Amino acid sequence: MSKFALYNGYLLDGTQNMTPQKGLAVLVENGKIRSVVADTAIPKGFPKIDLEGQYLLPGLINLHVHLAGSGKPKKKQTDPIKAVKLVTANAWTKKLGMALVAGYARQQLRSGVTTIRTVGGILDFDSRLRDAINAGKAVGPRILAGNMAVSVPGGHMAGSLAHVAHTPEEAADFVSQIASTGADLIKLMVTGGVLDAVRQGEPGVLKMEPALIKAACDRAHALGLKVAAHVESPEGVRAALENGVDTIEHGAMPDESTLALFRETGASLVTTISPALSYALFDTSVSHATPMQKYNGKIVMDGIVGCAKACLSAGIPVGLGTDTACPYVTQYDTWRELVYFRRFCGVTATQALYTATLGNAKIAGIEKETGSIEAGKSADFVVCRDNPLNDLTTLREPSIVFFRGKKIAPRQSRIREVDQELDNYL
Ligand SMILES: [Zn+2]
Repeated sequence: MSKFALYNGYLLDGTQNMTPQKGLAVLVENGKIRSVVADTAIPKGFPKIDLEGQYLLPGLINLHVHLAGSGKPKKKQTDPIKAVKLVTANAWTKKLGMALVAGYARQQLRSGVTTIRTVGGILDFDSRLRDAINAGKAVGPRILAGNMAVSVPGGHMAGSLAHVAHTPEEAADFVSQIASTGADLIKLMVTGGVLDAVRQGEPGVLKMEPALIKAACDRAHALGLKVAAHVESPEGVRAALENGVDTIEHGAMPDESTLALFRETGASLVTTISPALSYALFDTSVSHATPMQKYNGKIVMDGIVGCAKACLSAGIPVGLGTDTACPYVTQYDTWRELVYFRRFCGVTATQALYTATLGNAKIAGIEKETGSIEAGKSADFVVCRDNPLNDLTTLREPSIVFFRGKKIAPRQSRIREVDQELDNYL
């Protein structure tokens, strides 16, 4: 069906002050929104799809995705270097790995996420999958591909999902190499993370020296690519912003000077509460975290929430991502991040939904293409049974998903043990 009209629903358009609108029809033609008209004015030639009083909203956007994992918690952490070595051992294992990654991307789409931004993956799998999806050879969401990231010796994901740069020159060369694999953005591992920490009270130690951050950012910008950086400490945020990073992923407790740096540089924050929550709040018998990981996890979670709140009140753009493939962060639960954003950062449901749609689109630079239900944009929609502004958990099970005008079956097999634990935080 290249043309159709969605009618008899409540429209939530994704804009900042959206309210449910009745009596409208969305006309879709060749994968794009042609216009939004009164439902009494649907032109001939547009077959009508009755939404039966359900809610029509833009497809969600997840700004922080790793496609190489399910998020199913394990008792013992697997060694990421060994795991990636296994997947990339030969042509056959690479094919298997690629199929796995494609399956996870499909889960994202089926859960109502029509755009993902990947920030650390295996080789060039993300951009190859993006191209296959764009060519109609695979079913999945729009992908802004980060491919492999850049780290430093002993840094976050070094040698697995990230190249290991020893010098600024080497960092710049890796950026060029990643760009040549077809990446849409560059990811830097500026600090360590909860699992890298060796001391209690010191998660997110600054690992990447400022000259190296600058060299990588300069090269990325010269190539027309933006830079996203994994940062989990205040000194990391400062070093990242002072040296050209465009988005701070995760964040840390800010002070006035870091907020001023955000403002000066025009950088945005991408909040990710999902990966921190299990380390910080679960009992260690459930999370399998060590007492130190739990302690540091709490510092990181407080930093992420504190950074988001401070940026929100300072008018700095804040987006949302889930850091999928971390323990307890599945490829189909982006909606939970909206729930946490509301619960821990004190935003309204409207603001949470705006952030996960048009807000995220603006941060990713794709707001002309998607993020809201407006004429000319891609026909990316989620249909929900209830009003998400009253209850965000209705996003858990969309009744229909549309991507580029195509209807996607919202089928989902869920991991029960993950639901059981996480549903305590709704
Ligand atoms: Zn991440």
